[in-house]
Amino acid sequence: MERFILDEARLKAVEENYKRVLTSVKEAAVRAGREEGSVRLMCVTKTVEPPYINKALELGADLIGENRVQEYLGKRDELNLNGVERHLIGHLQTNKVRQIAGEVDMIESVSSLKLAKEISRVCSSRGITASCLAEVNIGKEESKSGIYIEELRETLCEISELPNIKIKGLMTIPPICESEAQARRYFAEVRRAFDDIGESISGVEMKILSMGMSGDYEAAIAEGSNIVRVGSAIFGARKYF
Ligand SMILES: *Cc1c(COP(=O)(O)O)cnc(C)c1O
Repeated sequence: MERFILDEARLKAVEENYKRVLTSVKEAAVRAGREEGSVRLMCVTKTVEPPYINKALELGADLIGENRVQEYLGKRDELNLNGVERHLIGHLQTNKVRQIAGEVDMIESVSSLKLAKEISRVCSSRGITASCLAEVNIGKEESKSGIYIEELRETLCEISELPNIKIKGLMTIPPICESEAQARRYFAEVRRAFDDIGESISGVEMKILSMGMSGDYEAAIAEGSNIVRVGSAIFGARKYF
C-alpha cells in the first residue's frame, strides 16, 4: 500500500467545497419554493481517505454514502461517525448482504426483488429491520442496476410482503445527460412515480427521494429530491485504485 500523506491544500478545498455546496443546495431548495432545510446533503465518500471525510463531518455533515461494502467496513473505524447517518448507495451483491446488514442506517440500492429477499432473510435471522430505498433504473441502462419504472409498483408490492425490510422511498441515477432539461425529465418521471405510489402500498413509505449528484443536484432539487448525493464536488475528482 502507498504511504498516506495528508494534503493540506486538499483539506482546505474540502472545507470550501462543502460550504459552497451546502449553500447552493439550500438556495436550490428555496428557488424550488421549498424550505431551506428540506433537502439533505449526503457526502459521497467512495475512494476518499478518512481525514478528508472527517473534515466534512467536523463542518457538520451528518450523512455519508459509501458504494462498496468492503471499502466502508475497512475505513469506518477511522471516521468520526458519532451522530452521522450512513447509507449504502452502490450496487449490492446478494452475497455481500450478510456483511452489511445492520452496519448502515439505510440501503439505498435495492435494485431487485431477489436482493430484497436476501436482505429480508438475513435481517430476519438477526432480528433487525433494514430501512431501504428502491433503486429505479430510469434510463433502462444495461450498465446500471435498478428496477424499471413500469415494474416498480408490482415489485414494491412484492417487497412489502417480506418481513424485516422496509422501503422508505426511491433512489435513482439518470443516464448522463447533455442538458439540464433532459436530466430534469428523468427526475420528474421518478418524482411522478414517487407521488403516484404515495401511501397506496401498505407497508411501503414514499418519504425519501434520493436524486442528484455533483453535476445535476440543482435539477434534481427542482424536481423534488430530498437527498442529494454529492461526491466529487466536495472531495475533488476521484482516483480509482
Ligand atoms: C459516486 C456516486 C455519487 C456521487 O457522484 P459525484 O458525481 O461524484 O457527485 C452519487 N450516487 C452514487 C450512487 C454514486 O455511486
